[in-house]
Amino acid sequence: MDAYAELQMLREIMRMLPSAVTVQDEHGDFLLVNDAAAAQFNTTPDGFLSVTTDADFLGQALTHRRATALNLMRSGRTAVFEERVNSDLDKRVYLTTHRPVQIGERSLLLSSASDVSRQKAVEEELFRRAYYDELTELPTRRVIEKHVTDLIAEDSSCPEGGYGHFALAFLDIDNFKHINDYYGHAIGDALLVQFAKRLGLELRASDMLSRISGDEFLLLLNPIQSQHEVADYLERLVQRLRAPFFIDGSEVFATASIGVSLYPEHGRSYDPLHQNADIAMYQVKNDTKGAAVFFDASMESEALARMATEQALRLAILDKRFCCAFQPKVDIRTKEIQGIEALVRLRDDNGVIQAPGAFINLAVELGLIDELTHLVLAEIMKSIDLIDEAFGAGATISINVAAKQAGNAEFMHSFAKALQDTGCPTRFMVEVTEDAFLAKTHFQDDIMPMLREIGVGVSIDDFGVGYSSLSALADITADEIKIDRSFITDIHKRPRSQGILRAIESLSEALGMKVIAEGVETFEELAYLQAATKIRYAQGYYFSKPIFLDDLQPQARISSDVRSESEARPTDNARPAYSRAGGRGY
Ligand code: C2E
Ligand code: MG
Ligand code: MG
Repeated sequence: MDAYAELQMLREIMRMLPSAVTVQDEHGDFLLVNDAAAAQFNTTPDGFLSVTTDADFLGQALTHRRATALNLMRSGRTAVFEERVNSDLDKRVYLTTHRPVQIGERSLLLSSASDVSRQKAVEEELFRRAYYDELTELPTRRVIEKHVTDLIAEDSSCPEGGYGHFALAFLDIDNFKHINDYYGHAIGDALLVQFAKRLGLELRASDMLSRISGDEFLLLLNPIQSQHEVADYLERLVQRLRAPFFIDGSEVFATASIGVSLYPEHGRSYDPLHQNADIAMYQVKNDTKGAAVFFDASMESEALARMATEQALRLAILDKRFCCAFQPKVDIRTKEIQGIEALVRLRDDNGVIQAPGAFINLAVELGLIDELTHLVLAEIMKSIDLIDEAFGAGATISINVAAKQAGNAEFMHSFAKALQDTGCPTRFMVEVTEDAFLAKTHFQDDIMPMLREIGVGVSIDDFGVGYSSLSALADITADEIKIDRSFITDIHKRPRSQGILRAIESLSEALGMKVIAEGVETFEELAYLQAATKIRYAQGYYFSKPIFLDDLQPQARISSDVRSESEARPTDNARPAYSRAGGRGY
């Protein structure tokens, strides 16, 4: 093959190479352009070489390439970099290598480029997913953590000693779970997006809003001049959140509890700042909700005390250090015991008995309640003979189930199975509060039929203080309704409560539900119920406080510090005696 043919062949190879190849002279003009290089600019090599004007996209791109080439040739060094070509038609990324060479008398620039657009898109998507929340498109926890850490590092290395001030606000949407349960997850998601948008209004370029988990956000306000300025800003934010969100035809109200820590006063690294903002947020959550509060040191000791309680509760459940007290439900005409309610108590580290008010909510929050409920049932079955002896074999046995458990199909299946395994499921009643019947909890539609099928009764506890209205009763198909103690206390002196009682009574009668008055403490209350209502059943200290079974058996009493609790024995008063039920009263 002669030299000319060889040159032709090399030209052809060059032309068809998948990588873009160009050669530019010392003026930046193109001597050689292969097909792939021309294609970068949506043209052919001939089209490329004939460009004389920079009026259009191609002309401008080539002018730019010429200027870059002159710079590179002047530096004399090989350069590798990423080049983005954004034409009207598409956006591409190339990895280009430029090498200045001397051939004969001439200085030339050899350039080659490979299209890495696809690889780049994958990398960018991975980056986006790692650092940006898909739903709200806000930066994730990692991003804000790194940003705050960098800010602090920058501040600490400042020659004047630093202490530029910033604030970190921890925001948690109030009752988000309720909203999700009530409206469903699609609306919950849409709410998060709108909520994030509202939080993001009024932010400066140097501030940062991040979604750190489900319904939790972290807001960096940087820089700040004073705590006062932050308080003003957050007050406006809280006001802004008060307006309803319009989602899919629904008007949704959602506030946030906000805890704030300040740098450097409340921490000199990310972790304590974040933790202290969280502690302050927790305080708001347990208090008013929907407000903003700054961290202060006293909150820390409260948080520590809470952690100690949490730890104690976990240990107590692990060690099964709990017991049940039983309170009778009495037929107020015959004084017979129709049933009993099991009320759990926990023995703390010092052997002192704690009432459920001190730990039930925490057990629900920590996810320990399911185990506790199973333990209550096991405790009852362990003492079933004693229970029968004390209250009669026909007495129903009520067990309290938290609203959160009631809507949890998995737990309720396992609990129903345990109730069935007792061999006497028809003796049991499950007591749930009105919240369990809220839409979307599935209790009424999915779980009630399951309990019905095995003969377990359902009782609505504390009726009148929850979310539902009287009209909601019409949709509920429970067996029994327990009117909250707040309506019964001093009922004989309170005409409004009397009216409410009458309404609940007649509605329950129409719906075929037994009515129980909770918390009867005095003879006057009982006398009113007997004289002015048709209510047949009551529970309360007037008849008996919750009783420990051991207290019914003098020979098997529990230790003296346990007895120091105020639980009474059934016979320690001059009250009318009540007798055992002859059979199942319901
Ligand atoms: P509840 O189910 O409404 O139980 C009635 C509460 O009122 C009991 O308080 C009982 O001791 C008290 N009580 C009864 N009669 C009177 C009275 O005449 N006057 C006054 N002042 N109080 C009276 P306790 O035992 O402290 O239980 C509080 C709540 O804890 C219960 O309210 C129930 O919601 C919950 N609880 C108890 N045991 C369990 C359980 O095993 N699981 C769950 N999830 N919750 C439970
Ligand atoms: Mg109850
Ligand atoms: Mg109750």
